Amino acid sequence: MKPAKFDYERATDVAHAIGLLKGSGGFTKILAGGQSLGPMMNLRLAQPDLLVDIGRIEALKRIEKTHDSLFIGALVRHAMIEDGKAPDTTRGYLRSIAGNIAYRAVRNRGTVGGSVVHADPSGDWPTAMLAAGASARITSANGARSVGLDAFFTGAYSTVVGEDEVLEGLSVPAFSDHARWGYYKICRKPGEFADSIGAVVIDPARSYARVVLGATDGAPILLPALASRVAAGQAVSIADAGAAIDAVHSGFDPFDRQIHATALSRAITKALAA
Ligand SMILES: Cc1cc2nc3c(=O)[nH]c(=O)nc-3n(C[C@H](O)[C@H](O)[C@H](O)COP(=O)(O)OP(=O)(O)OC[C@H]3O[C@@H](n4cnc5c(N)ncnc54)[C@H](O)[C@@H]3O)c2cc1C
Repeated sequence: MKPAKFDYERATDVAHAIGLLKGSGGFTKILAGGQSLGPMMNLRLAQPDLLVDIGRIEALKRIEKTHDSLFIGALVRHAMIEDGKAPDTTRGYLRSIAGNIAYRAVRNRGTVGGSVVHADPSGDWPTAMLAAGASARITSANGARSVGLDAFFTGAYSTVVGEDEVLEGLSVPAFSDHARWGYYKICRKPGEFADSIGAVVIDPARSYARVVLGATDGAPILLPALASRVAAGQAVSIADAGAAIDAVHSGFDPFDRQIHATALSRAITKALAA
């Protein structure tokens, strides 16, 4: 199938993009890498009246390291992180995630910002960035705001980014030299969207520990009880992980509960062994 008819505008900068979004009067979507929006339009699951292409806005491609964080512009592509174009401030965490998203053709076009705003429950960056403690910089005509990813996702395919707002990028806290992480995806075939994702970051120097379950039926889920256990260096069996899942989500069928518990337990094992 082909997309329904739509208008197209190329934004020259963020302010121009916001102006186009505000002034459209119809259903308008930002176009970044097009790797999620394109298929949805082809299937006519999305039928925007206007596409605002932000793909040539240089300011959204910036990668900036400060003493305690890394800013990744919304238009930074998965492949740029995979290829080491961003400084490694996370002991290989971001690079490893990027290199295992789909396959190279998707990674060449898909952007980090597009992935988190799209908020596909099976997407990698929403879960991985939440585990890393990232925050989002969002800009509108009223100015910019920063939102921690723990308050960013409001459900499957749903975030706090408004229709006339642009995600400028993500700020990811730098991991200390002793930080450890584990990431475990369960996929039917390599390169496919995940059926479950476990993501763990432990950084005692910052008193930081996060355990996140992704590829659920909604937003990625934080598991603070498991985070306390891994912070204390305690192993977590599949049964333990299952019990922790039950405490925060009662709706999984037995199959999903089992693969989620398995992904979490394996991610934690990897982090503790790192
Ligand atoms: C075959 C295939 C397999 C894939 N497998 C995986 C996978 O295993 N793991 C994974 O994580 N992803 C996977 N993806 C998705 C891929 O990572 C996409 O690149 C990503 O989800 C969306 O990024 P994009 O730049 O293409 O966004 P687009 O498709 O251009 O946009 C996605 C959505 O975000 C909005 N948006 C984009 N940028 C902004 C912004 N700066 N501000 C506000 N709104 C914005 C758009 O309006 C749209 O609603 C796959 C895609 C394909 C086609």
